[in-house]
Amino acid sequence: MLSIGIVGLPNVGKSTLTNALVGKKVAIVSSKPQTTRTRLTGIINKDNCQYAFLDTPGLHKARNRLGDFMVKIVQDTVCDVDIAALLVEPDTKVTPAEESLIKRIKEAKMPAILVINKIDKIKNEDLLAVIAQYSKLHDFDAVVPVSAKTGKNCDVLMGEFEKYALEGPQLFPDNMVSDQPEKQLIAEIIREKLLKLLDREVPHGIAVEILQMEKREDGLVSINATIYCEKNSHKGIIIGNKGAMLKKVGEMARYDMEKELGNKVFLDLWVKVKEDWRNNMYQMRNFGYEDN
Ligand code: GDP
Ligand code: MG
Repeated sequence: MLSIGIVGLPNVGKSTLTNALVGKKVAIVSSKPQTTRTRLTGIINKDNCQYAFLDTPGLHKARNRLGDFMVKIVQDTVCDVDIAALLVEPDTKVTPAEESLIKRIKEAKMPAILVINKIDKIKNEDLLAVIAQYSKLHDFDAVVPVSAKTGKNCDVLMGEFEKYALEGPQLFPDNMVSDQPEKQLIAEIIREKLLKLLDREVPHGIAVEILQMEKREDGLVSINATIYCEKNSHKGIIIGNKGAMLKKVGEMARYDMEKELGNKVFLDLWVKVKEDWRNNMYQMRNFGYEDN
């Protein structure tokens, strides 16, 4: 068993990379920062070794308790894993948050691989400058440029991880690809569609709770979900004109759920307001954002 912590700033592609390495969608992805809220483990078994990829929220400045929780996960993960994979944009600017992650990696004296993502966006000759900037700060055990989106060089990266492979007891059963319960994945699919369809501020205040999920006699899987938002005005936006937005969210989410579950789905969506839940520990726990 080898645990690999995938860390970095928001939006650098950590979840996309986790999905690419696992070969299956285990984490939701969006163009907006702070999409990933919890630590999520993607799992593969290869040549007698189990690899656990720990996808984390991006390291950012917390503005509420949910943010504090997310930042703590990143910091704990760095010290908790066998190897750190620091994922960065193909850009020469190293941010203070990245410097603090590198500092933690140094203190933990752990192997660390610098992964430069999104190389589909830059020219080869620009890559060297990026590598030079980060290499100044730490003597990384390997540097691998990849494109998580196209899959380019992900096999090379996997090869680097394999150098640290240890035979030993598996932590997770053979057929498990993620530590995320099915209900959580279903809730995350709904949140992914809201992130895609709604503007910046609204989706960040959203949590999704699955109240019920069961197979009906007619073979459909019936799912009853509540979308919580922070303001009445947000509720209006989520529902949309004559319910158009909610309908769209439901259609897109149902499509993905049916693929995921291999079954027809009946989806019932509700919207409720829970003011300031991102500062309420009790509510956060209720939505699955808790320390364990
Ligand atoms: P995270 O916040 O670090 O988990 O980032 P996500 O995986 O959610 O990705 C953030 C955005 O970057 C999404 O719009 C992705 O489609 C995009 N992205 C991820 N990997 C790549 C890549 O290799 N190339 C390009 N061009 N975009 C990418
Ligand atoms: Mg993510």
